Amino acid sequence: MSTVPLSTLTTMQVGGPARELITATTREQLIEAALNTWDSNEPWLILGGGSNTIVADNGFDGTVIHVCTQGIERQQDISRSPNHSIVRVAAGMNWDELVAWSISEGLVGIEALSGIPGSTGAAPIQNIGAYGQELSTVLRAVEFLDRYTQEITWIPASELALGYRDSVFKQGKEGVILTVELGLSSYGNNQSAPIAFPQLASALGVELGAQVSLEQVRRSVLALRSSKGMVLNPADPDTASAGSFFMNPIVTENFARNLPEDAPRFPVTPDPQDRVLPLGAEVPDLPSKFSQPRLVKLSAAWLIENAGVHKGYRIPGSNAAISTKHTLAITNQGGATAAEVVGLATYVQAMVQSHFGIILRPEPNLIGVEI
Ligand SMILES: Cc1cc2nc3c(=O)[nH]c(=O)nc-3n(C[C@H](O)[C@H](O)[C@H](O)COP(=O)(O)OP(=O)(O)OC[C@H]3O[C@@H](n4cnc5c(N)ncnc54)[C@H](O)[C@@H]3O)c2cc1C
Repeated sequence: MSTVPLSTLTTMQVGGPARELITATTREQLIEAALNTWDSNEPWLILGGGSNTIVADNGFDGTVIHVCTQGIERQQDISRSPNHSIVRVAAGMNWDELVAWSISEGLVGIEALSGIPGSTGAAPIQNIGAYGQELSTVLRAVEFLDRYTQEITWIPASELALGYRDSVFKQGKEGVILTVELGLSSYGNNQSAPIAFPQLASALGVELGAQVSLEQVRRSVLALRSSKGMVLNPADPDTASAGSFFMNPIVTENFARNLPEDAPRFPVTPDPQDRVLPLGAEVPDLPSKFSQPRLVKLSAAWLIENAGVHKGYRIPGSNAAISTKHTLAITNQGGATAAEVVGLATYVQAMVQSHFGIILRPEPNLIGVEI
């Protein structure tokens, strides 16, 4: 048994030890560790920054491979334009260090993803997103070691089924991401991408669609995130979390009509285009996409708050609590166990289900625990 509790490698700070813990600092070590572990047929787990993983109190009865590879390579992509670069990043690189680097290079496309904890290799797993940007818009490909074929291939982003906090990896594709390839442009004047998120635009004091400097975006995003406890800070127990604990549920528009009027809802499927037919013309059959139910995304934070679970709430005697800054984060306020985290998450889920008939789905990867 390893002597290192996984609570020290996860931002929720819960979880017992693994049977074996391998730290891979080079690409070769990472490949070797994965192949040897798979040959042994032991249970295995890939761990990056541990910011989206909740491990059981009794730990993990198998091998944990901790991905700590480092390195960024930049090449100009003259096939597209002199301002376009292909950036290859080792899976273990800290995501936010990559964002800071891209901004220092004047590269555009991930500035609003500042402050998201964790590794670059984990970013495609749930297609990270925040403040109007999403990895999928800049991800070109991943270099992948497949669990079953044991081959290394580059998989283009178009084959990764990237969606809202979703990808082929969340749907069961097993293996290790070794390298992440991004395509980033530069406008040459340190300008950001157009601001696409109302809260960020208002914090910057600009209209949606405006461009400001990359540095300004980073500063504003980090300030907004800090005010919600969404930037890791050892001095602030509200940041000992896995970020948003539940995903925003996607429901049919019909179902959403039964919710209170002030429940926020965001269209997921675009409005069908108006079609003009000459008078007297026969109305053709509508393509099936128009007859499918329209979908809307709801706010999990709103549902939790309006189910009566408020910021700072904790089950009496438990050290797990809803963040005092953000209803969607379950936090470890000091010495919480995984069982306490799960207990609170289950309570939140039950409250939302009984009030609104919606079962919230947890966002983090659950290892040895169930919600
Ligand atoms: C305070 C806070 C704020 C957050 N804010 C956001 C946010 O705004 N937006 C957002 O999308 N997420 C957010 N998150 C969630 C989290 O930071 C991201 O999901 C991040 O990408 C996880 O990276 P990680 O390296 O810590 O992953 P880990 O927790 O180590 O792993 C997550 C999953 O990815 C797998 N994995 C990790 N590395 C690899 C690899 N190289 N190859 C194959 N599989 C791998 C693991 O097995 C596991 O299933 C937040 C988390 C916290 C704690």
